[in-house]
Amino acid sequence: MSPTEQLVARVAIAVPIPQLFDYACENLSRSDIGRCVRVPFGRGEKNGLIVEVVPAGQAGHDALKPVLHVQRDVPPLPADWLALVSFVARYYHEPLGEVVALALPPGLRRSDAVESAAADPFVTVTEAGRAVLGQPSRASRARALTEALAAAGAQRRSVVRAWPGGAALADAMRRGWIAAGAADRPPHESAGAPAPTEDQQAAVERVAEGFGRFACWLLQGVTGSGKTEVYLRLAERALAQGRQVLMLVPEIALTPQLEARVASRFPFANVVSLHSALSDGARSRGFVQALDGAADIVLGTRLAVFTPLPRLGLIVLDEEHDASYKQQEGVRYSARDVAVWRAQERGVPIVLGSATPSLESWQHARQGRYRHLRLDARAVSAALPRVRVVDTRHVRLDEGISPALREALAARIERGEQALVFLNRRGYAPVLTCTACGWVSGCPHCSARLVVHLADRRMRCHHCGTEGPIPPHCPSCGNVDIHPFGRGTQRVEARLAELFPSARVLRLDRDAARTRPQWETLLARIANGEADILVGTQMMAKGHDFPKLTLVGVIGADASLHAADFRAPERLFQQLMQVGGRAGRAHLPGEVLIQTEFPEHPLYRHLARHDFDGFAARELDERRMACFPPFSHQVMLRADAPELEQALAFLAAAREAALARSGEGVRVFDAVPMRMTRLARRERAQLLVEADRRGELQAFVAAWLQDVRGLRAPRTVRWQIDVDPLDV
Ligand code: ADP
Ligand code: ZN
Ligand code: ZN
Repeated sequence: MSPTEQLVARVAIAVPIPQLFDYACENLSRSDIGRCVRVPFGRGEKNGLIVEVVPAGQAGHDALKPVLHVQRDVPPLPADWLALVSFVARYYHEPLGEVVALALPPGLRRSDAVESAAADPFVTVTEAGRAVLGQPSRASRARALTEALAAAGAQRRSVVRAWPGGAALADAMRRGWIAAGAADRPPHESAGAPAPTEDQQAAVERVAEGFGRFACWLLQGVTGSGKTEVYLRLAERALAQGRQVLMLVPEIALTPQLEARVASRFPFANVVSLHSALSDGARSRGFVQALDGAADIVLGTRLAVFTPLPRLGLIVLDEEHDASYKQQEGVRYSARDVAVWRAQERGVPIVLGSATPSLESWQHARQGRYRHLRLDARAVSAALPRVRVVDTRHVRLDEGISPALREALAARIERGEQALVFLNRRGYAPVLTCTACGWVSGCPHCSARLVVHLADRRMRCHHCGTEGPIPPHCPSCGNVDIHPFGRGTQRVEARLAELFPSARVLRLDRDAARTRPQWETLLARIANGEADILVGTQMMAKGHDFPKLTLVGVIGADASLHAADFRAPERLFQQLMQVGGRAGRAHLPGEVLIQTEFPEHPLYRHLARHDFDGFAARELDERRMACFPPFSHQVMLRADAPELEQALAFLAAAREAALARSGEGVRVFDAVPMRMTRLARRERAQLLVEADRRGELQAFVAAWLQDVRGLRAPRTVRWQIDVDPLDV
């Protein structure tokens, strides 16, 4: 055997170093690229993926260990999928093996047997069933059901079960009259589609004209404007061309609704749902159905962006501004950005939808890099909610509740309508403000805000590292009543119950709804009118329809008005517009009450006019002046350790290495403690690196990380790199 014919498998394994590993493998051929393998590693075994097959001569050394098992029961991952994970590894500076481990369902990686039968198969009438129907015979429930199915054609099992008389399905299947089979109608055949509005029709036509080529569309439409209708019509067009559709939503909580809507619209399509709450078996099955082309529509959360789709024709990403698309641990990828890259690579259109686009996407649309589509009116209920700003500077708040809000709540209870009290209590950094003159603790050396650290009574800039003592009075007007934002609003719920003893108060937050069933139970109770006042945090802001909800009261919004994070106002505006969109969805007019000490703030004024564009333009002007994204690009190096000093020392060393390398266009800031310094008994710090051009930053980081990996740090120090960080 000549050594040149010998081939070697180059395997990506989930280890924290950016390296591939070579293994010997019997009967190896280039068609094994993209297959999962089990390999010996160190003193144990690991799962991996063959990403290259190379001649033995190119292998690192000769005594290669053999692959233990090759998963040949499922098709190999295709070349475009390998290109996708390679891109993510490169862009986010993570080892390819880690990205592969993230992107593949665990069951597939372990080479578990993949159960390929559909979860909800189509059922059809068999030959035997038809024969029975052709003869006069005793009436039975099974016969009646078989007759109904014969008339309707193949249906999903769950659909038939739900028919009157559907209970006889098991009997009819046992008799062999009905059996699992294929849909006998095309997947794009749709049911129950409303006639599109003119705007919807125009949007669909424009996107559909470009099928078969890459284009990124920003579909900006107020809540209830019918964006989902546009997605469904586009999906119909893509399905009709024999293509697959990928639909992404930010939250698992939103998938059942969309799933139900998609499945009832396309009764004959194979719809696969993919998210992290599925069992390993279900995830593998959905993934393989997508991979072998059997799935027509794949819908899921950010993880689903890695689904292999050989017939991909369209990507839709709803609520594109949502921070949930960015993974906050491990490989810190943005599913939105990865989806756009993927659409471009595959030459298909992508639609990013939102009522309140991210300023990055909105800016792209304004510059013409993305194409802009708008739906400016609600599809059914005509009016947007009225937004009223309640000045709380001169009123007494009762556990955060103003007299105006109290009155508005009483009126809703009187009328038998629902109200939502929305607490903005994200962990925003406390910034010092003066309510007398509007002064805010800005950094003297850069455009960020100084953050109050009550522990040592200091103020720090988390951008450049400047620090100083907390001033005893307002440096601008002398007012001594200056205070940091972010005081607790936790007692609001209890107080509401006291104020309105006859009302049923329901709390909706991460504690009350830890699991999906809990969350669905709560939603069902609201829909059934079992609650009068809802008290919720940001998870309430997202895409739910409550027809009887007519009032949204917002408490604690100011905390993010002057927060240190430059994205805080953007998030606040998005959140308030989304949460306001919950009010008055059906035929009752809605109202939004915002309690604030800054009633004149432009953010609230734009909000009252539902003027997202005005807000976005103004906010982007500020970012341009300050050189914040999207006018610069950022990478954050974070470190954590039992002692803050260790984390800071590590970052200081990394900073030295960065300064030794950084060219003209790269700005390296000081290492600073993170806003929430302590987490899980570890102290955290961060180091920001910025550049005007993305390419320059990427090249710099790739080289710099080699230095960082070589730094001698205590073993207790852990670090991570975050490209395009959302929290700065
Ligand atoms: P969005 O996704 O923008 O919030 P949806 O697509 O969910 O909006 O539409 C909001 C509501 O309006 C839904 O109840 C939907 O069924 C209804 N709707 C949307 N488009 C139409 C239409 N063309 N005709 C009638 N009802 C529509
Ligand atoms: Zn002042
Ligand atoms: Zn600063």
